[in-house]
Amino acid sequence: MGHEDKLNRALDETLKPPPLRDDCFALPAGVDWTPVDTALDMLRDRLHCVVGTEQVPMQDALGRVLAAPVIAERPNPPEANSAVDGYGFAYDSLGDGDQVIPLVDGRSAAGVPFAAKVPPGHAIRILTGASLPDGVDTVILQEDVTLGRDKIAFRAGIRARANTRKAGEDVALGDTVLAPGRILTPADLALISAIGGHQVMAHTPLKVAILSTGDELRDPGQTAEPSDIYDANRPMLTALVRQFGHDPVDLGIQPDDRAQLRAAFDQAADSADLILTSGGASAGDEDHVSALLNEAGAMSEWRIALKPGRPLALGLWQNTPVFGLPGNPVAALVCTLIFGVPAMRCLSGAGWRVPQGFTLPAAFSKSKKPGRREYLRARICDGQAEVFASEGSGRISGLSWAEGLVELGEDAAEIQPGDPVHYIPFSSFL
Ligand code: AMP
Ligand code: MG
Repeated sequence: MGHEDKLNRALDETLKPPPLRDDCFALPAGVDWTPVDTALDMLRDRLHCVVGTEQVPMQDALGRVLAAPVIAERPNPPEANSAVDGYGFAYDSLGDGDQVIPLVDGRSAAGVPFAAKVPPGHAIRILTGASLPDGVDTVILQEDVTLGRDKIAFRAGIRARANTRKAGEDVALGDTVLAPGRILTPADLALISAIGGHQVMAHTPLKVAILSTGDELRDPGQTAEPSDIYDANRPMLTALVRQFGHDPVDLGIQPDDRAQLRAAFDQAADSADLILTSGGASAGDEDHVSALLNEAGAMSEWRIALKPGRPLALGLWQNTPVFGLPGNPVAALVCTLIFGVPAMRCLSGAGWRVPQGFTLPAAFSKSKKPGRREYLRARICDGQAEVFASEGSGRISGLSWAEGLVELGEDAAEIQPGDPVHYIPFSSFL
């Protein structure tokens, strides 16, 4: 109405700088910050398994998520056998005192059992893993025996059934050895094989779309201007997703452009069960991830009381969950480990699990603001938890240096060297 210039001039004259707030993670008064555990409880309640099932042969089963219990089709061991190389006999047929007993002709070896009965008062040569022949319930270690031409001698004192394994003492026929949700380890494959399995009913891998957002981002190998930065998050998140046994779907780098990002989200929702984005998740001019999720109407902008971690945008795009991770690689990794990994476990059928850590003396001192949880890049040195020298969330070298995280609870304030702290190795998140 013609007063614009005048009003603007008046504004300029009254423009005063705000007080310095040197902590971008400070909790503003009057805002409801969601504690980490509350956020985790919500994820746990709301996410469920979204993948199908398929038969998987043993050689491809490592890291897969069991979809049905594994039931023993065969006991382990299938028959009573010898735990050592030695000589077998019936315990009750021994007399008192030191023994000199005749050997039968023949032997029992693993896979080559002795077909006949061993008469009472006689012994038979028997090797580790060999079936106990009829008439044998006890084995004496060969080192405890003097071998004659066709006799053995040994001292009194052997216990009944010494050095033998009972049929099914490890696993009985029909036992459930592994429950649904188990992420199969190399040892699990040994167990399944031992009890007669050769394939498993597993969940199909979770498809996880990964995209990076930012006009400044370049792919490793591309030429880059000094103002550009190489995309560090996508290689990291892709590798993490793969390490957890899921299938990454690469959606590349998306510019800070609403329409292009929308198209990428559409494609991601079509091709994946979960969308992991990094960058553009706060409320800045170029933060199109949060803007799009807001627009979709299914956005929960969670202000989680967590450092490093701000901002984390969680939402749904065409019914596909979206984790809008912070752009800073340190915050992106911490948020992925703390929130993304449990979410992926739920979606992939593995179910909820709290990553197991342990208490170690701190090798550092730190003053922490109470009221929020903090994760520090850490590793163990001489039985103590040491932390990376800088907490700067752009310090990617500290991520690579670390072997785990120190978790400082909401109430923690002053930490002195030697104080007990909670350390979670990266491997515990698997
Ligand atoms: P943003 O969350 O988009 O505001 O990004 C926060 C910071 O993280 C900025 O310094 C970005 O340049 C940086 N950043 C964002 N995405 C990536 C990425 N994929 N790799 C490395 N740094 C990134
Ligand atoms: Mg950005």
